[in-house]
Amino acid sequence: MNNKEKVMLTGVRPSGNLTLGNYLGAIKNFVTRQKQYKSYIFVADLHAITSPRDPADLRAAIDDCMAMYLACGVDPEQTIIFRQSDVMEHGVLGFIMTFQTHMGELSRMTQFKLKSQSMGKHGIETGLFVYPPLMAADILLYNTAIVPVGLDQQQHVELTRDLSQRFNKRYGKTFDDPDVYIAPVGNKILNLQNLSEKMNKSDDERNMGTIFLRDDLKLARKKIMSAVTDSESVVRFDEEAKPGISNLISILAATTGESIDSIEKRFAGVGYGDFKRAVADAVCELLAKIQANYARFKQTDVLNAILDDGATKARVVASETLNRAKLALGLK
Ligand code: ATP
Ligand code: MG
Repeated sequence: MNNKEKVMLTGVRPSGNLTLGNYLGAIKNFVTRQKQYKSYIFVADLHAITSPRDPADLRAAIDDCMAMYLACGVDPEQTIIFRQSDVMEHGVLGFIMTFQTHMGELSRMTQFKLKSQSMGKHGIETGLFVYPPLMAADILLYNTAIVPVGLDQQQHVELTRDLSQRFNKRYGKTFDDPDVYIAPVGNKILNLQNLSEKMNKSDDERNMGTIFLRDDLKLARKKIMSAVTDSESVVRFDEEAKPGISNLISILAATTGESIDSIEKRFAGVGYGDFKRAVADAVCELLAKIQANYARFKQTDVLNAILDDGATKARVVASETLNRAKLALGLK
């Protein structure tokens, strides 16, 4: 099978404005490969209602996510772009995959463990617990071979493989096993102020540690210039001892394509102020480009036409797969 016959798929949940982490960890890697594969990208709106959300905010976030895909270089000529909730098969297969999953597997998911800690007082929402099998359905519906995601989602793609293999073993070959693609650099961009956490799009807008793709350039620069570092004053990649500087090196490397080695050499003997300025220049150049595109794409009728077309195409494949799963299960 040549790559063009292989399927690549990824998605982002519309839970806030997209961040530099979303771009470097997932979207960029999708965009640079979209020509080589049969490519699908979706707005994971069902994943955005795993916690209660204001409906008007959700609608705005969905439009925003879609426009941001286009602004980041997703090409509707190359890629099928759709909204998860437009394709009902996600819900049905999500249910079926939930029933293939053990409680223990879901309890062991790092994202569940991390996010449920902060929910403790008000009760832990089931959505947070059961979204990984829905994610498995998202992937399996399209016979996906490769899923570019950030490091935090690796475990969920691995669970998808386990569930696919379990289903195939129980009911006969129905699904293809997907592989995860994690970029070697930029797969976990840390919060610039709190290095024990990754950047999250659901972070507070006023959070100085999170760079949003639509940040005013002056603000983005300020965030980078005030990023937490260390007192050694040497630009050296060491994630354990120097998480702040290593994070900035990763951001620079993933943004420009320069290797970590080359960055270390280029900034030997250079102070943190000048190094941060170089990182800020590169990030602002990227944001300026994305923001100029965003302004062009933020026209709802254009977006709606792309989404309608995408959903029509996605439904054809998704319904075939769901049919296969129903036949295998004896539901047909
Ligand atoms: P949320 O806080 O709502 O979970 P998020 O920023 O984690 O937001 P997701 O929609 O969960 O965004 O993930 C979208 C994609 O971006 C996934 O592939 C995820 O792995 C990737 N990603 C998210 N944050 C980072 C990060 N800090 N560094 C690299 N990749 C990331
Ligand atoms: Mg997330």
